Amino acid sequence: MYTYYISVGSNIGNRRQFIMGAYDSLSIHPQVHRITSSSVMETEPWGYTEQDVFLNAVWRVSSSLEPHDLLDVLQSLECEAQRKRDIHWGPRTLDLDIVYALSDDGACMYINDARLVIPHPYFWDRLFVLEPLMELDKAFTYNGESIGDRIQTLKK
Ligand code: AMP
Repeated sequence: MYTYYISVGSNIGNRRQFIMGAYDSLSIHPQVHRITSSSVMETEPWGYTEQDVFLNAVWRVSSSLEPHDLLDVLQSLECEAQRKRDIHWGPRTLDLDIVYALSDDGACMYINDARLVIPHPYFWDRLFVLEPLMELDKAFTYNGESIGDRIQTLKK
């Protein structure tokens, strides 16, 4: 069983419905054992800032799906949400990123290939990932830095 942390975002249309719809679909997947969601938070856009505010959350997912198979599932959920995106880091109905993963023995998983990079290269720089992630796991650390300290640093 793997533990995945998935960053979820939406800033077009019925944002909460896109997020909850994907949550419901993922939770009934036969190889998904359990999902825990942070609260859904409104956040300012990051990167391309001339767009509507996002709703963001992080899900902790226990699953026997291999990482690339989970990515397939997440990408099909994005397609179902009729994701439209013309601008890099621009508006999207639903964005699902695997930001961090733990293997069965609790070790951080590292993947870097053409389809998948885990840990996600920007997750430690993004408050919209770290604030909901901290709700799920106050003791989270990355490269020896606590998530609480990282959030304080990013807010300075
Ligand atoms: P984006 O449009 O920013 O959501 O990026 C989607 C692309 O990122 C897809 O082609 C994925 O194959 C790739 N990708 C690489 N690493 C990840 C990851 N950790 N989670 C989700 N997508 C990823």
